[in-house]
Amino acid sequence: MSNLMRIAIQAKGRLSEDSLAFLKDSGIRIDELKRKFLAKAANFPMEVLYLRDDDIPGVVADGSADIGIVGLNEVLESEADVEVVRKMDFGDCRISLAIPKEQEYTGPAFFNGKKIATSYPKVLRKWLDENDIDAEIRVILGSVEISPAAGIADAIFDIVSSGGTLISNGLKEVHTVVDSQAVLIANKKMSPAKRKLLESMLFRFDAVIDSRGKKYILMNIPTDKVSEAVKILPAMRSPTVMPLAAEGWCSLHSVVEEVGMWDKIEKLKALGAEGILVLHLDKVIA
Ligand code: ATP
Ligand code: MG
Repeated sequence: MSNLMRIAIQAKGRLSEDSLAFLKDSGIRIDELKRKFLAKAANFPMEVLYLRDDDIPGVVADGSADIGIVGLNEVLESEADVEVVRKMDFGDCRISLAIPKEQEYTGPAFFNGKKIATSYPKVLRKWLDENDIDAEIRVILGSVEISPAAGIADAIFDIVSSGGTLISNGLKEVHTVVDSQAVLIANKKMSPAKRKLLESMLFRFDAVIDSRGKKYILMNIPTDKVSEAVKILPAMRSPTVMPLAAEGWCSLHSVVEEVGMWDKIEKLKALGAEGILVLHLDKVIA
């Protein structure tokens, strides 16, 4: 095989844009016009193979691609022998059991003797066996959610994200079996040279993954409030404090998680912080 790192990503679908954006954020330039099948990166020893998501775990397992980005749900269902290298923080969803909303759910034993429609028969079989449940699996490849209303099955086992599709089909989610998101997978038998290339790519990828959900924050604050402010804003090591020309004032810089950020800003304002700026974080190299 060539010494290009070949990455398989979804050609068209829910993960395509985020996967390409991720490569771009990692500083890897790909000509999007050539999105047909195989495209070489302009500035990195990498080529992109665009596939149906179902095919990605298999081609990575057999070495036709070195790495891939695909939903964990697909990796589990394919039972492909690949290494899950990173969680990507996009494509969040879960594979759950759902039943008609008017029925009472009594726990996993509810499914004994029931017929369950799904596109994930292997994941479901494993869960049924682990819980010692005797149910029939009905494989349906599309529109699984209409199965109960159509009399095809009693329940479904399907991908859920917001839950809106279930509600509009008169179903309720009763048990989550798998929490999924997009993952970076790798072939287990990569050559040492490829491994090395992967390590250098992971360095870039981690900088992008670690910057997700974080912001750079800076503000002016009275010097005598700095120690209290630092308690509100723990940074990677410790916040940066610089004196301002105006006596008794400092500039305080830190990195914050976006979740909970507004609470912290209110507390900082109450301490007397002024001129608070929140900036986009491009990369974080810990
Ligand atoms: P392909 O044509 O590549 O086979 P697909 O139709 O099987 O595409 P998509 O609907 O594009 O797949 O979904 C790709 C992945 O996105 C899913 O496998 C799952 O990991 C993730 N995902 C996130 N949210 C959802 C959702 N609400 N419904 C379905 N998949 C979701
Ligand atoms: Mg698919």
